[in-house]
Amino acid sequence: MPDLTEAIIMLRRYLPPPKTETVTLQEALGRVAAADLFAPEDLPHYDRSAMDGYAVRSEDISSASRDNPVILTVIDVLQAGCLPRRPLGAGEAVAVATGAPIPEGADAVVRVEDTRPVTQSGNSRFVPVGGQVAILASVPKGKNISPKGEDVQRGEKIVFAGEKLTPAHIGLLASCGFWKISVLSKPKAAVIPTGNELVSIEATPSIGQIRNSTVWAVAAALKECGVEPSVFEPVPDELDILTARLSEAIDNFDLVVTCGGVSVGQSDLVREAWKQLGAQILFWNLPLRPGKSVLAATCCNKLAIGLSGNPSAALTTFDLLLRPLICDWTGTREGLLVETEAALTETVQQMSGFLKALRVKLMLNGNQLMAQPTKGQLNTVLSSLARSDGYALIPPGKGEIHAGTVVKVLARKERLTSAFKLADKSQHEILSEKVRTDVM
Ligand code: AMP
Ligand code: MG
Repeated sequence: MPDLTEAIIMLRRYLPPPKTETVTLQEALGRVAAADLFAPEDLPHYDRSAMDGYAVRSEDISSASRDNPVILTVIDVLQAGCLPRRPLGAGEAVAVATGAPIPEGADAVVRVEDTRPVTQSGNSRFVPVGGQVAILASVPKGKNISPKGEDVQRGEKIVFAGEKLTPAHIGLLASCGFWKISVLSKPKAAVIPTGNELVSIEATPSIGQIRNSTVWAVAAALKECGVEPSVFEPVPDELDILTARLSEAIDNFDLVVTCGGVSVGQSDLVREAWKQLGAQILFWNLPLRPGKSVLAATCCNKLAIGLSGNPSAALTTFDLLLRPLICDWTGTREGLLVETEAALTETVQQMSGFLKALRVKLMLNGNQLMAQPTKGQLNTVLSSLARSDGYALIPPGKGEIHAGTVVKVLARKERLTSAFKLADKSQHEILSEKVRTDVM
């Protein structure tokens, strides 16, 4: 039986390389770039004004101040999108809007706030063509000009392969004229429930029956890790039928995850079914509690995982074994649990050679993060997992672990943040409270 880390390393080899697909820019948000992308041109691709003001020759106005203005003649008015009509000469200025091209001869822009019209045009702050403007401040060469290539230069890498595309990437790609983007395809996983006792979630189970819930939890976890799950109908505990369904799944999906049927009972047939399909069994069971029952096999160069049918055991195995593996495969960092440390609020027993994954609630006590086991740690109890913020990991074979001992914790990112927020309001909250009260 490999330990958890050995198991993760072993399974990594059997995940097929991700496929790629092309999506439009509108569909690219949150997808993982399949390749490095480079700017095909300078951004901006011309020298442009960064301010509403007047393009000038800085040497003409080096002595300008409020008490000693320099008067220039306005030879042109350029809105964004207009082209300069002629170069700027000595003693001349061109009124420019933000984004307008800088005319040849000009080397700086004076903000409109640092000017005064000598020639008025209605109530406009700008002087019309042929009029005069008083410059009230000197500016150094280059001031208020966004030079060609200021943002990115031609050939510069703007997206790294494996990076998840954010709104800023989308804006940058749009600015550089990328319309179609090559991204990693989401791997497709078959999620297959097994068991004669299963009924659909809409049905009312009679005694002995149980709603088919585990697959939905596992499918949700797969989604968080960037995989597209397809949930199969429950498969009865009959070897022929099970083998046929597994065969169909391995042919059509990148990953196959079954729920149930991997223990040692008479109706636990998943291992036998994979064997009949010629699969190589990589391991059966892990030293993990809960979540010991797990099967890993490889068939047709793909990976097959058999989880327990029990939802909380299946999710624990998923979180500790599959989450890091699959997030790495899909490039989805958001699906990872955050590793941290916390002090146990109570003494816990560790009597086995298995890694114990305690479901814990996290809270701050002063500067110390505390981990409090949630009520109901049995592997049949799911509600305690829903109420928890993550797992405190108790290493194998340590005997009694006393309250106050600091242990490793794997936490859901949003739960960890909220544990900190309870003690210390985030900047965002303070700001949104201020906005609410200011508006009212
Ligand atoms: P198994 O792993 O097949 O031995 O099942 C372990 C426990 O989980 C049993 O009590 C099953 O009834 C239950 N179980 C199995 N599959 C599911 C499922 N898809 N949804 C909910 N419970 C299940
Ligand atoms: Mg079963």
